[in-house]
Amino acid sequence: MRKQKSREARGYGSRHRRMREILAIEVELGIVACAKCGELIEPGTPFHLGHNDDRTAWTGAEHAACNLRDAGKKGYAAMRANLEAENRSAGGKNGNRAAQPEPAKGWTGLRGPNEERWSREW
Ligand SMILES: [Zn+2]
Repeated sequence: MRKQKSREARGYGSRHRRMREILAIEVELGIVACAKCGELIEPGTPFHLGHNDDRTAWTGAEHAACNLRDAGKKGYAAMRANLEAENRSAGGKNGNRAAQPEPAKGWTGLRGPNEERWSREW
């Protein structure tokens, strides 16, 4: 039985390796421009084979630095989105103390939370 699909599913299958081998030769020849910054990838420079966000297509060779910088940005954005989602769900459970300032004690405290009448026709 073979249960091998993780590498393939993540976009790093054998086709990816073969493509990298071809690109490695081209990079050594100094004829490949980085898909991210457009600069020539100097022979001997570490490079990655970049692909689009849903990993359905390759974008071409990229400087390793350019690829990682982009991945880092995406990772940061994902981390931030996760934290914000967590914050929202925590707020739903705990009343979101951080986002909602404590109601002023005094006359406003005697009213219901939905009765925010700052201006009123007397
Ligand atoms: Zn680059």
